[in-house]
Parts: sequence; structure tokens; C-alpha cells
Amino acid sequence: MESEQIALFQHQLLNWFTKNQRSLPWRDNRTAWFTLLSEVMLQQTRVDQALPYFLKFTQHYPTIQDFAKADRDEILLLWEGLGYYSRARNLYETAQIIVRDFDGNIPNDYQTLLSIKGIGPYTAAAIASQVFNQVYAVVDGNVIRVLSRFFGLTDDVTKSKTKKQIQELADTLIDSKNPGEFNEAIMELGATICKPKNPICETCPISSQCMAFSTLQTDSIPYKAPKKKVPHHHIGIGVIANHEGKILIAKRPDDKMLGGLWEFPGGKQEIGETIEETIIREFDEEIGVHIELHYPYPIIKHAYSHFKISLHSWKGILISGVPQAKESSEIKWIWPDELANYAFPKANRKLIDYILTEQK
Ligand code: SF4
Repeated sequence: MESEQIALFQHQLLNWFTKNQRSLPWRDNRTAWFTLLSEVMLQQTRVDQALPYFLKFTQHYPTIQDFAKADRDEILLLWEGLGYYSRARNLYETAQIIVRDFDGNIPNDYQTLLSIKGIGPYTAAAIASQVFNQVYAVVDGNVIRVLSRFFGLTDDVTKSKTKKQIQELADTLIDSKNPGEFNEAIMELGATICKPKNPICETCPISSQCMAFSTLQTDSIPYKAPKKKVPHHHIGIGVIANHEGKILIAKRPDDKMLGGLWEFPGGKQEIGETIEETIIREFDEEIGVHIELHYPYPIIKHAYSHFKISLHSWKGILISGVPQAKESSEIKWIWPDELANYAFPKANRKLIDYILTEQK
């Protein structure tokens, strides 16, 4: 691209952003902590989904020091429903490193940010540019969509070679005088105008130079190779009560998916098993107890990023044995009305709502 075209692109984009940017709490009150928190929350999550969580978290933890000294279970409970829980666990660890090694000050340069565990190139570039005005271009899903359309790139954008090419284009286009604003502007354009479906090209500030617009390819760019069919697992879990009426819950180990969250024990159905046999076997193998099942709850379907599940849950009682945390990091007997105090995955939470309604 010629330098005049780059200058025109920057001018059109920034001019549009000045007039059209949304008011967002992390934008209106820009601090390094709010930027770090919002960038982590916005990974694979829409603004409208992240917004209430951001407000809740900044109310509880106005500073990174408040967050770093909080109880991790409390953080996971507040994060419940936002998904991708490893983000919360990793951010907690990152915050503790920043408090311990940097006296609670989020570093102001890209390379130091990148050296901190839990901060990758995207987050480092976002903080360095938006908070400290350093010239680092960010490339997220919005930027990929805008630039692949703008330049008419027909290669698969999920491939690292294409992503690298887009990063190079963003590095070329970024306005060195206003790097943070430029990054925000291009992401904002992707979120509000250059949307995945039905982009509003008629009102787009950069349409005069956009290749996908002029060649009628906005429906086919960005191109993503079709995904493989995702597996579907049937999971059997038990809501098992002891003689007092308390329910057994188990905490998932940190190194597993949804680590640190609580759940009702159970596991994947094996070939040739009924779901009741699955639950009884899982309690035997993972908890070391014998149980009896009484009746099923409605089946809950849930989709994760790489697979889907049907969650089959049964109400039952403990018959014999002392529960042990063989596969989980901790187990507990709790009263049903205490279920709200523990962080559970979304599918389990739907079941809890059902259990609590049933008890009323
Ligand atoms: S003209 Fe349309 S396709 Fe091109 S960048 Fe703007 S909104 Fe996206």
C-alpha cells in the first residue's frame, strides 16, 4: 500500500472512531488493570456478555492488588457463566506475579509484559498501545475480519501463515502517533460495522478502498475451512445425598478442563453401559463409594468449543464407603442451599436451578 493510501485509511478510521465509539467502562476509565482485566474477559467473548462481569469484578477488585489477594474460589464463583475458566485462574496467577515482582505496577513496555506468565502477544500489545501509547498493532478476530476483507485475502484465516500476514498488514497500517486509538478503532469497526454477517458497508468509513466490498466478496471473506464434526459425549453424574440430606460435590483438578470448579461426581458413558451403570461405576472408581440411584433429572445439553455433551443426572443416596478425592482435588458434603456458594460449570448450574426449584 502506498503511504498516501495508508494515511487515508488511518484518517478515515480514526475520524469515524472519534464520532462513533461506544462508551465502555474500560475505555472511559482507562487504567492498566482495567485494560488487562477487560482484554482477558473479551477473549472469545462478546462485549455485551463481558460487560456485567467487568462491572462486578471492578466493584470487588478495584485494583490489581485487591484481585491478587482475593480468595481464588471467590473469583471463580464471580466468573461463573463467563466460560473459559482457565482465563480466571491464569489472570489470578498473573496478578500475583505483578504484585510480587513489580510492586503491583503493570509494566509499561511490551517486552516486559510479554515476559510475564499469562500475558501473550495480543494482551501485551493491547496494554502497551492503549495504556502506554506504544506502537504495537493488536490482531484479534475483529481485526482479522476487517483486514482480510479490506485486502481481499481469500486464504484460510485460521492458518498461522494467514494470521502472520494479517499481523504484518496491521503493523504497516498502525498510526504511530495514536497507536492505542488506532487499535481500538479497528476492533470497534469489526465489532459494529464490519460484522461477521451482513456488514454495514454503506456506512463503513474505509469502503472506498475495500477489496471485498468492491468485488462483492463480503460473504465469502474471511474464509475458514469447514470444521470437523464435533464429538458428542454422554456424561452421567450423581446428585448423591448422605443420611443427613447433604449432597456430595467434588472440585476439578487445576490441570483439567474447568479446573478449580466444583461439580457433581460422574463421568463419560462407556460403550455397552447404561447411564445408571456409568454413574455407579464412576462413584466406585473416583470416589470409592457404593451408591443407589433413585430417579433421573431432565437431560441437559451443552456445547463446549470442541465437543458437545448430554448431561444425564440421577438423584441417589450413599449406601456404603467413605468418600475419597481420588480424581478430584477436594470433595465436600454440603447442604443443597449452599450450592449457590460454589462455582459450578454452566451445565451443572442448570441442574442446580432445577434441584433448588424441586425443593421449594
Ligand atoms: S466496506 Fe464492508 S467489508 Fe469492507 S471493511 Fe467496511 S464493512 Fe468491512
